[in-house]
Amino acid sequence: MQTGLEDQLGLYQKRIPVFTRSVKGKFRRFKTSVLVLAYAIYFLLPWLPWSRLDAPAQAVLFDLPGRRFLIFGLTVYPQNVVWLALLLFIAAILLFFITGLVGRAFCGYFCFQTLWTDFFIWIEHKIQGERPARVRLYRQPWDREKVLKVGGTHAAWILASFWTGLTFVAYFTYAPQLVADFFTGQAAAAAYITTSILTVSTYAAAGLMREQICTYVCPYGRFQSVMYEAETLAVHYDARRGEGAHGRASARAGQRTLAERHEKGLGDCVDCGLCVQVCPAGIDIRDGLQYKCISCGLCIDACNTIMDSFNFPRGLIRYDSEKNLAAPVPAAPRVEWKRLKTIGYGVALILMSAYLVYSIGTRGSYDRSVNQIRQPLYVVLSNGDIRNRYQIRITNKAGQDQTYVISASGIPAGALDLGNFREITVKPGHSGVVQASVRLSPELAEHTHRFELFITPKGNPGEARSETVRFDSPKGTHE
Ligand code: SF4
Ligand code: SF4
Repeated sequence: MQTGLEDQLGLYQKRIPVFTRSVKGKFRRFKTSVLVLAYAIYFLLPWLPWSRLDAPAQAVLFDLPGRRFLIFGLTVYPQNVVWLALLLFIAAILLFFITGLVGRAFCGYFCFQTLWTDFFIWIEHKIQGERPARVRLYRQPWDREKVLKVGGTHAAWILASFWTGLTFVAYFTYAPQLVADFFTGQAAAAAYITTSILTVSTYAAAGLMREQICTYVCPYGRFQSVMYEAETLAVHYDARRGEGAHGRASARAGQRTLAERHEKGLGDCVDCGLCVQVCPAGIDIRDGLQYKCISCGLCIDACNTIMDSFNFPRGLIRYDSEKNLAAPVPAAPRVEWKRLKTIGYGVALILMSAYLVYSIGTRGSYDRSVNQIRQPLYVVLSNGDIRNRYQIRITNKAGQDQTYVISASGIPAGALDLGNFREITVKPGHSGVVQASVRLSPELAEHTHRFELFITPKGNPGEARSETVRFDSPKGTHE
């Protein structure tokens, strides 16, 4: 049910097209650098060769049929799910940490939606021209020029979206083979379906919806405000300086210099509107901090350009904190990290990252488990001997077949019966199970409560591991 203002506005406002003007400055340069780096990694990584014995020579390959992720020299199996959990935890804490310090910096510089939208705007700019030309084109009737330019823009977007989708699929199969198969109609149906879905969603998100994804779809944009504190840096318009006593005003004759403006009680904002024209979210930062702002800093670059042209000090729009802006004389903005919450996030980040690195660095080439079969716990044989049974499971996490030798100590030679499996060969990423039994005389069983089972990878005795195992008998049951 809608009430009040929602009745008047509706929950979803009709999109007003945003025609961003290009801008130069340090935040624009930083955004471009991040974009180039991210694209280089995303689009080139599947083509990076990496020599392997048992898999295609691809540096990063998510080998679903083999149930493993191959990442350079690291092989990740489903058994390593704890690494994924740690990675997700680290990513979440990192997001909270950065948001607490510098607001939505992730949104403005690193988010996929921002990166792809930025690239699509660049395409639009190259084909249709700078902002005034694009506005003119938008308003003019459909003629040959408009059909060619708008059609060309959408065609280029669809091409970029298609290559984005195909690249994603290339992470799951050998990239050169995928491309050859894809265009000859021989690729798997899943490859065509996934590429199609990603082509459509990328085109819609980065070409058609753009800032609406951040406003209506992304949950982070809505809950990020709870992570803000008074000390958090965000993009702010210094209203006290910009508005002065009598508001902003254009820089016409008689109010061009700071001295003239201050004498008339005018603020430093010359109301040029450039900060609004460059904003990819289509907002006016002078209206105050808004949930639609993605903290991209482009309005800072725009305003600094204007300030330079009038010889006014820079920083009318800047990264600053509410606390500093409210001070009688604001100090130079700085990252305030000495806060309980930030320090807590930082410590959690360091600990989790260290544990992940340690866990990966000390990973073994196999996992093993030995379970005693408890029903029945023991069997008394016809000659009085006592028998216990065990299930030994070995998971090979190495990159090639591996043979394991199983032995025991603490019981007489010959007491361990492995059937036909003195040793077992396991394929990479697979598990092998051995049913073992131990048979002891009644006298020995009475005094044997535990013994050691050894698992030794053949040719790699340094990785031999032992498991202490219980032995139960009528006189020695240990629940
Ligand atoms: S208001 Fe400024 S920082 Fe916020 S989205 Fe617009 S240009 Fe980027
Ligand atoms: S760019 Fe700066 S001077 Fe121009 S309107 Fe925006 S805040 Fe005012």
